[in-house]
Amino acid sequence: MLLPRLLRSSLPYTTRSLRQTQTIEVQVKAQSTRYFSTQWRLHQQLAEDDMAHLPGMDPSKLEVTKTITPKQLVPNQDLVFGRTFTDHMLSIEWTASQGWLAPRITPYQNLSLDPATCVFHYAFEAFEGMKAYKCPHDNTLRLFRPEKNMARMNGSAARIALPTFSGDALINLIGEFCKLDQRFIPSEKGYSLYLRPTIIGTQRTLGVGPPGSALLYVIASPVGPYYPTGFKAINLEATDYAVRAWPGGVGNKKLGANYAPCIVPQLKAAKRGFHQNLWLFGEEEYITEVGTMNLFVCLKDKETGQKELVTAPLDGTILEGVTRDSVLGLAKERLEPKGWKVSERYLRMQDIAEAEAEGRLLEVFGAGTAAIVAPVRKISWKEKMIDCGLKETEEAGEIANQMKKWIEDIQYGDEEHPWSVTIR
Ligand SMILES: *Cc1c(COP(=O)(O)O)cnc(C)c1O
Repeated sequence: MLLPRLLRSSLPYTTRSLRQTQTIEVQVKAQSTRYFSTQWRLHQQLAEDDMAHLPGMDPSKLEVTKTITPKQLVPNQDLVFGRTFTDHMLSIEWTASQGWLAPRITPYQNLSLDPATCVFHYAFEAFEGMKAYKCPHDNTLRLFRPEKNMARMNGSAARIALPTFSGDALINLIGEFCKLDQRFIPSEKGYSLYLRPTIIGTQRTLGVGPPGSALLYVIASPVGPYYPTGFKAINLEATDYAVRAWPGGVGNKKLGANYAPCIVPQLKAAKRGFHQNLWLFGEEEYITEVGTMNLFVCLKDKETGQKELVTAPLDGTILEGVTRDSVLGLAKERLEPKGWKVSERYLRMQDIAEAEAEGRLLEVFGAGTAAIVAPVRKISWKEKMIDCGLKETEEAGEIANQMKKWIEDIQYGDEEHPWSVTIR
């Protein structure tokens, strides 16, 4: 207790009990994350100072060129995630000497890029995933916590030396884009317009360095309910032979480069009959995320029997999901008063297996914009098959059901809430 933290953590493991070892390792991890984030903030501040004198993104300069060949709408029941797009796209170019140029809405079209453009060689690409909703009562268009997506996109862009921008300016421009293409959004609950803001480095060079030019664009795809016939619980394969993200890495950023390497493990899991990978980290086999969603576990405390909702802490390896944050916020507001504990903490695969064996595992679900929640039925881990607590006849647990309803009611304006931002 008297030793300074770092010194304590360098003591040999043999002098400490297993429990102490775990606590100290968690502390070291949190410390290294703090170290990285402090260093990172300093670095980012320098980059921002460099750019401060350049013109920012300016919605008042928007130029709109409307399509002369409007697309035929796809019938609601035939909508497939990310397959069809609206009539237009929003683009804003940036150069190191001129800053952000005038934003443009144009007909949806191919990009024309030199084969030597840096995005193709060194993965200068970051993206976002968010949705616009049409309120069934009054046809207003709404976004859900868009400032969170903007902050995250700026963090992703800055990490790969791409320019940052005013989140308010881009939200404003996205609003104009959504209004123009709103005929693509059915005004029925469950339907929405999936928005894909993307930023790429466009400099034509094979030299490895900060791009001198960039393009930020937004495309939009109308989507139907993720579960058209009601929830369908998924089965996971706990994955230890491949690692999605690591301390000091970029797992907390939505960089395209994070996703391609996850496809082979996903195919392997699919071959064995599992829908998604449950990404584990380290010798302790901490649970991190599921596929491209954050993971939530509901369990009862061994001693007190108190119900607890747990998700992994934001230590730099976890994507800061908007849905994750919303689930945590709602749980603190609406479940804690009912006696629940809400925790962002490390949880090992072993802890889940123990909870299951002792009948304390209540439910497990993924959380992300596409599905809101994805209930989990089984997790394959080593030679075991862990049953996550769903009855054979159910596809979702109580908390997953509750969260989906609470969040959807806010998104579609059934419940007025500051998280729902009306496009005017
Ligand atoms: C996008 C994403 C999430 C979910 O984030 P939301 O903002 O809730 O959609 C979670 N994990 C990963 C790895 C992601 O890419």
